[in-house]
Amino acid sequence: MTEATALEQALRTVAGERVQVVRISADGSASVVIDAEGLDDTARQTMQSDLHAAAKGIGVAALRVAMSAPRRRRRIIAVGSGKGGVGKSTLSANLAIALHRLGRATGLVDADIHGPSQARLFATEDQRPEANGNKLTPVMSRFGVPMLSMAHLVRPGQPIAWRGPMAGNALGQLIDAEWGNAEVIVVDLPPGTGDVQLTMLQKYKPAGAVIVSTPQDLALIDATRAMGLFEQGGVPLIGMVENMAGYLCPHCGETSDPFGHGGAEQAAMTSGLPFLGRIPLAMAIRQGSDAGEPPAAGEGPLADAYLAIARQLVEWLDRNG
Ligand code: ADP
Repeated sequence: MTEATALEQALRTVAGERVQVVRISADGSASVVIDAEGLDDTARQTMQSDLHAAAKGIGVAALRVAMSAPRRRRRIIAVGSGKGGVGKSTLSANLAIALHRLGRATGLVDADIHGPSQARLFATEDQRPEANGNKLTPVMSRFGVPMLSMAHLVRPGQPIAWRGPMAGNALGQLIDAEWGNAEVIVVDLPPGTGDVQLTMLQKYKPAGAVIVSTPQDLALIDATRAMGLFEQGGVPLIGMVENMAGYLCPHCGETSDPFGHGGAEQAAMTSGLPFLGRIPLAMAIRQGSDAGEPPAAGEGPLADAYLAIARQLVEWLDRNG
């Protein structure tokens, strides 16, 4: 029996007919493609570790497992806030990466036409999307998340001062791009309740919206306005995230609450909106954002906080499939 056949047999004891292609390279490393249709994240993870164990059992130490993404309908999740500066773009970027890490093929659109910041967050400022016919091919970030931002279409430093309809058309180009197998598109909306937001809601019908707020009362009043916009547009509210909730001291590791505690959670509860979680005000988030290293791509408590919120989004998407 060849080594590849022996490996295939071992892998089939774990994954049966789901085993599609088994390869062993000259350097002794092996790879397998698994049809993961219909498996949830837990089942995929369990299968993955069982496959590694089975390979090890017959002396193959290095196995690369590729799971074909289960095909699901592509859906848009809009991330909105009542005002700027509450960390909406940072949250959108990190949630897109966290969703990707949870096995959901995710793309990101920076719809903040007048102040695009996602290209910096993902360190893709130097890349340009290609035009394929009349569609754009998104730029691939280092984190496995394809993305498009107005910053990719204009020259650096060029001011973007478009009026409503032009901004709406530009947004259309970004959303109607070739997103490949992406099943979730996270859209970072501009703050407030203007033309771009309305076009977005009316034309592209997001499956749901996430509201970001800081714990400060003022930001909360603005967040309530953003909730009204989505409700008016018939977009279901998935829930609220409290950002900059408590200060995570980089020196002592303790969290304090310069802006008060639990304001967003309270507001969410009052309006019957699910509370999705809180992200602390942390130097590492600001630094990581500026350096094109979003914390969700790494390990540790900050990555865990983003992953926990992303897990709730996945559950919501599955419940509202
Ligand atoms: P918005 O999109 O709401 O205007 P940004 O995401 O651009 O806000 O964030 C504004 C600034 O705050 C950025 O410098 C960003 O790095 C920083 N920031 C966002 N969230 C956090 C956080 N949880 N901790 C520390 N800094 C943050």
